Amino acid sequence: MDSDTKSKLLFPRKDASVFMKREEIKATDEYCKAYISFLNTAKTERETVSAVIALAEKEGFIPWKKGMKIKSGDKVYFSRRGKAVVLCNIGKKSFTHGISIVASHIDSPRLDFKMQPLYEDSGMAFFDTHYYGIIKPYQWTGIPLALHGFFILKDGQELSIKIGEEHGGDPHFFIADLLPHLAEEQMKKSVKDAVPAESLDILAGLNSAPDENGAGAVKLNILRLLYEKYGITEKDFVSAEICVVPAFPASDIGLDRSMVGGYGQDDKACAYPALTAFLSVTEPEYTSCLVLADKEETGSFGISGIKSGFFPCFIKELVEAVGESEVGHEIFSNSFCISADVNTCWYPLYKEVFDEHGEAKLNHGIVLFRYWGEKGKENTNDADTQTVTALVKILEEANIIWQTGEGGKVDAGTSGTLSRFFTNLDIPTVDLGVPLLSMHSPFEGAAKADIYMAHLAFTAFFKRH
Ligand code: MN
Ligand code: MN
Repeated sequence: MDSDTKSKLLFPRKDASVFMKREEIKATDEYCKAYISFLNTAKTERETVSAVIALAEKEGFIPWKKGMKIKSGDKVYFSRRGKAVVLCNIGKKSFTHGISIVASHIDSPRLDFKMQPLYEDSGMAFFDTHYYGIIKPYQWTGIPLALHGFFILKDGQELSIKIGEEHGGDPHFFIADLLPHLAEEQMKKSVKDAVPAESLDILAGLNSAPDENGAGAVKLNILRLLYEKYGITEKDFVSAEICVVPAFPASDIGLDRSMVGGYGQDDKACAYPALTAFLSVTEPEYTSCLVLADKEETGSFGISGIKSGFFPCFIKELVEAVGESEVGHEIFSNSFCISADVNTCWYPLYKEVFDEHGEAKLNHGIVLFRYWGEKGKENTNDADTQTVTALVKILEEANIIWQTGEGGKVDAGTSGTLSRFFTNLDIPTVDLGVPLLSMHSPFEGAAKADIYMAHLAFTAFFKRH
């Protein structure tokens, strides 16, 4: 059979390093330099919202205020308590035609401080934590950690702190594990139980406060240091958000520098390309929205989670502001949403959990996935043929290297993305994201080519007409 006929019949995965041109690989490398720097400045959802707003304002976006009048060409954003953000570029078509949405999440698994975190035991001060999102606790021991906090002080002043990010200057924190010599019993336990989540406490210090000794002196010294530097007291921890994140920076991975390693790539590996794509399409036909949500890792509940309903409320306000208040439900049913979240990918050392034929592969482009889950696709979007066909057409016309993914063997486990919350609004939605290795670990790995393909794919999507 001739090669033309073969390529018409077959749909093989394309190796990006073979199919991309030399200039494209160079562009990929340049693109990922900016991505790495973004990962390093935006480890928490609050830091991500600040970084996104700074970039958007440079492109002329202004904060949305209820009652503003807007028209085609206007660019506004809505920050949900500094933890989630929606950016909107008003298109040439009216809202009746629907809108283009790319939705990602900007929260990542980590350890949070408890409300009364500071305690002392055996002359050592600790910060007590409660993990956020699904983690493997053992992965968080024995690595340098940083504290990222947000407080509102008694005088109403907002205070953001970062301790452990200035390399060469700041102290780091860590969670001690048992030495292997004494870990015979621990090593017999399952990985799940070997390090209990309640043992994930951060060692805060050893020294007693000046002129103090005995029980409580070390805890008092930590409080003294925090008060002197930041004006924080123990009561401020009740309302503060203090996130413990890996302190090491993101970097190139591999001798060929083909990958990016770093914390928080679920879901910055999609949120960042969605942002750069969104900002690059300046005059879209359809009104374009970038939704960067918080709380996805814990079920999308909470005031900054997508379930709180801030997204449809914001859209309704915009519809009123352009004077289309008679428009009803068709805004959503005529819309098109890409839920941009990372997907699992084939890894040869753990073949037993992956679908050998269906799994996405690193360096083989962005992953389209219609469903996931166990118990017969429970709780999944399972996108319909019309919606998937429309997305494939966009990808193909833009020459995007793309593939499909299964998210593991049938019934091997389950996960979730934002897509079902958009289909709940009657918005046709497909999942499309970057394949990610070592997902939810303190240092996740993605292929640069896949991240760049995400940028190109989302750009093509926002340009649809
Ligand atoms: Mn995710
Ligand atoms: Mn996740």
